[in-house]
Amino acid sequence: MRNFFEKTSWPFPGSKKEATEFGKSKKSVLACEKCNAVFWQKSWRHNMEGIPESDRENVQSAFCPACRMLAEDRYEGEIIIENVPEEKKEEIENLISNFSEAAFEKDPMDRIISIQTVAKGMLRVLTTENQMAQQLAKKIKQTFKGKTSFMYSKRESTLRARIILGVQMEGKILRELNESRKELSSKKGRALRSLRDLR
Ligand SMILES: [Zn+2]
Repeated sequence: MRNFFEKTSWPFPGSKKEATEFGKSKKSVLACEKCNAVFWQKSWRHNMEGIPESDRENVQSAFCPACRMLAEDRYEGEIIIENVPEEKKEEIENLISNFSEAAFEKDPMDRIISIQTVAKGMLRVLTTENQMAQQLAKKIKQTFKGKTSFMYSKRESTLRARIILGVQMEGKILRELNESRKELSSKKGRALRSLRDLR
């Protein structure tokens, strides 16, 4: 019986792991002073909903990782969007804020830290989570068409995404150019060979 419980991965109330993670009070709830998010059963949630009364008795105040990150000017995800046409800027910003709302709804630790115009046609978006930045970058690429590249720094656990809008067309044209160049050179080869044969 004991072994069975030790092997299960669900948060078993009496498990040793749970007890050591938060010192003596294994059932304590952490509440963020800034955003009111609460930590219970290994995850941050928006509020006390779903937490049993007995556990709510032991609430300790803290700062959640997202609020700490904001206060310390840190981030985990960075997206640089280049080649932003002036007339698309608002649409892109709307997509980002809609995405941010949906992500936050799912996980209170997922937040957009800032959206800045760093140069003409260049936006910089910072997020609290790197996965969030990756998903958002993919979404922007899908919606507005462009080329993305990702760089992950394991040491800083930071993801940097770069999106260059409007280069998909260029890529296609380049590919077509290459194809016709190849075709031309093979035609040239064939012509040279038949010339040789004639001699
Ligand atoms: Zn917070």
